[in-house]
Amino acid sequence: MRRKLVVGNWKMHGSHKANAELLSGICEARPFGADVAVCVPFPYLSESAVALAGSDIRWGAQDCSAHEQGAYTGEVSVSMLAEFGCRYVIVGHSERRAYHGESDQLVADKAKAALARGITPIVCVGETLAQREAGETETVVKRQLSAVIHALTHCVGEMVVAYEPVWAIGTGLTATPEQAQAVHAVLRAQLKAATPKADGMTILYGGSVKPDNAVTLFGQPDIDGGLIGGAALKAADFVAICRAA
Ligand code: 13P
Repeated sequence: MRRKLVVGNWKMHGSHKANAELLSGICEARPFGADVAVCVPFPYLSESAVALAGSDIRWGAQDCSAHEQGAYTGEVSVSMLAEFGCRYVIVGHSERRAYHGESDQLVADKAKAALARGITPIVCVGETLAQREAGETETVVKRQLSAVIHALTHCVGEMVVAYEPVWAIGTGLTATPEQAQAVHAVLRAQLKAATPKADGMTILYGGSVKPDNAVTLFGQPDIDGGLIGGAALKAADFVAICRAA
């Protein structure tokens, strides 16, 4: 049995006050039956690490540089994230791919850089509505994952994969459990061809996960938890989702 994982992706939300309330709300609701993490904006890593120290709630970042160091204004390296005790870093989120032009290769390079520093990359893949309607879902997610599998070679089994259909992100349109499971099964089969560890790997679903749909989504055989956006910003909602896992 794979242990479930629920990760809150705060995106560009937060303030000292809001973070303190949210993190204490999550901590007070422990223990959870699943692993739980929050991926916070860079400036809040330090205070999140302090607030969560001594708890079993993990923390991470939402992006990283593929470079180790150098003249890359505005970028943050994985060794910097490692200094803050980051356990995870999200790479290839559709918002990075769409608004920052991140290619499959760049996403793969970031995942590789993260693993080289002992940080688990949460690699996001997912199709747009137009791609789904054109029947291209499988082709798109396989292409996105293939670049990462190729880059990670013998470390493929160390990453977390997140299937996030772009049309379900922040829209209230959740993939049905059957739609999500179908894509997760495709991804797991692709991982199986690449690593003997595939059956133990975590594949998260993300896209309008809420307390009222989490149980059925997480009940699917290949859905190992969630990557949560909007509902990760309210302690009561996030805690309810963690309890559903
Ligand atoms: P929502 O849960 O707000 O749809 O966001 C999902 C997401 O993008 C998590 O990374």
